[in-house]
Amino acid sequence: MSALLDAALEAPALRWPNRFAALGPRYFTELPAQALPSPHWVARNDALAASLGWPGDWATRPDWRALEVFSGAATWPGMRPLASVYSGHQFGVWAGQLGDGRALLLGEVDSPIGPQEIQLKGSGLTPYSRMGDGRAVLRSSIREFLCSEAMHHLGIPTTRALAVVGSPLPVRRETIETGAVVTRVAPSFLRFGHFEHFTHTAQDLDALRALVDFAIDHHFPACRDDAQPVAAMLREVARRTAELMADWQAVGFCHGVMNTDNMSLLGLTIDYGPFGFLDGFEPMHICNHSDHQGRYAYARQPGVAWWNLQALATALLPLFGDEPEAASELALEAIEPYRATLPGALESRLRAKLGLASAQDGDPALADDLLRLAAAERTDYTILWRRLGTFSTAPGADNAALRDLFIDRAGFDAWAQRYAARLATESSIDAERAVRMNAVNPKFVLRNHLAETAIRAGDSGDFSEIERLLKVLQRPFDEQASAPRAYADFPPDWAQSIEVSCSS
Ligand code: AMP
Ligand code: MG
Repeated sequence: MSALLDAALEAPALRWPNRFAALGPRYFTELPAQALPSPHWVARNDALAASLGWPGDWATRPDWRALEVFSGAATWPGMRPLASVYSGHQFGVWAGQLGDGRALLLGEVDSPIGPQEIQLKGSGLTPYSRMGDGRAVLRSSIREFLCSEAMHHLGIPTTRALAVVGSPLPVRRETIETGAVVTRVAPSFLRFGHFEHFTHTAQDLDALRALVDFAIDHHFPACRDDAQPVAAMLREVARRTAELMADWQAVGFCHGVMNTDNMSLLGLTIDYGPFGFLDGFEPMHICNHSDHQGRYAYARQPGVAWWNLQALATALLPLFGDEPEAASELALEAIEPYRATLPGALESRLRAKLGLASAQDGDPALADDLLRLAAAERTDYTILWRRLGTFSTAPGADNAALRDLFIDRAGFDAWAQRYAARLATESSIDAERAVRMNAVNPKFVLRNHLAETAIRAGDSGDFSEIERLLKVLQRPFDEQASAPRAYADFPPDWAQSIEVSCSS
C-alpha cells in the first residue's frame, strides 16, 4: 500500500515525446536552468493548465513541485532542458548566430491539445547568451504573460503563457530591477531564424534538410503528400503569416521587434517585447523606443513580414535544386500566397469590423476613409470600432456617442451617411449587426497603461491586479459590466509617457 502511495506521490505522470530534442545536438545545447533564488508565484494561468490536462491544484500539489520547476530549480521526470540555436536578421541587418540566450526548452509534453513545448524565459545563461545575462525582468515577464493570453482570447495565434515566477534577484537594465521567469507554451518555438542558421551560419545543408523534414512531419503533415513538400510548407507558412498580419492590423497590435528570429514558423505571435496596442490611431506609430527609424511601425508590419518571408525563402533555397535561378524562382513563388492572401484577409476583417454581411466594391474605401478620419485626429482605435457597433440607422438618429469621438463632425457626418447608405443596401438590422460587431471589435485590449498599472502593483508585491486584468482579457468581446471602468476607457494622459524598449 505504501509503495502504491509513494508512486502516486511522485512527480506528474506526463508523457514527454521531446521530438525536437530527438533531432540531436546540432540544433541545441542541453543544459539545466539557473534557478531563480527565493522564487514566488506572480501569476498563473489555470485555464491553460487545465487545457494541458493538468489538475486544478497543479501549482500547489507538493508532489508536482511546480514553483521549483517553473523557477528553474527542478525538472519533472521526462523533461530534457535545452537551449536551441538560431540566427537572424535584426532590423534588416544580418546578425549571425543568436539562439535561446535566456530561454530554455524544458521539453515537449503530450496533452489533450496536442504535444506542447514548455519553455522557460529568463532562466539564466546559455551558450547563446552573448553579452546578455540570461535573465528577464519582472516588468517584461508580466507584459508577456498578460499579452499572450490577451491575444489568444482575441482569437489571434500566439504562444501562450502558463506562469510567471518572481524573485528578489537583482537584474540590471537601465536601472536595477528584479528577475522573473515566464513559462511559455506552444506547439513549437521554431523561428524563421532556425532555418537561416543552418544555411548561412552553420552552412550545414544536411542539418537544414533534416530540420525542414522535422517541421513538415510534425507541424505541417499535410504538406508531406505534396509533390514538393518544402514548397508546400513555405506556401502554408506564407498563408499563415498573412492571416497573422491581418489579425494584428485589425486589432491594432504592434509587435515592435519583427526580426526574423522573432517570426514563428507556425504563424504564431512570438517574443513579446516592446509590443503595444494602438491607443489613438496613428498608422506610423512606433511602439519600440529603440526603433529609431520606425522600421517596425504599425503600418509597416505587413511589409516587414513579406521581407521576413523572403529571408526564409532564401534560407530554404538550397532545398529547391542545384540550379540557382530556377531554385530562386521556385522558392519565391512558394511565398506568393502571402501577397495573394493578405489583401483579402485584411478586407474581410475590416468588413466584419464594419458589420457588413456582404461584400461590395466600395467597402475597402469605406473602411479606409473611416481610418483616415481617425488618423487625422488620433481617434482611439479600440473605442472607435466598439462604438461603431452602436451605430443606429433609425431616421434622425444622432449617433452622438460615436460622433463625439471626432472633432471633425462634418467629416464624420459625411462618412456616416455613406455608411448608413451601405448598410441599407443589405437591409442591415441594427441589433443584429451590433451583436456581430461586438464579436470582432474587442471592448478590452491590453493597453500599455493597464499593463503598467499591473506592473507597478506587482513591483510592490501586489499581484491581484494581474489576476483581475487577466480575467477580463480572457473575455475581450463581452461587455463585462462589472469590470473596472478604466479597462475599456480612454488611456489617461500619463499613458503617453510610457516608454518600452528592447532591453527587457
Ligand atoms: P529578442 O530581441 O528579445 O528577441 O532577443 C534577440 C536575441 O538576444 C535572442 O538570441 C535572445 O535570446 C537574446 N537575448 C535577449 N535578451 C537577453 C538576455 N537578457 N540575456 C541573454 N540573451 C538575451
Ligand atoms: Mg527573440
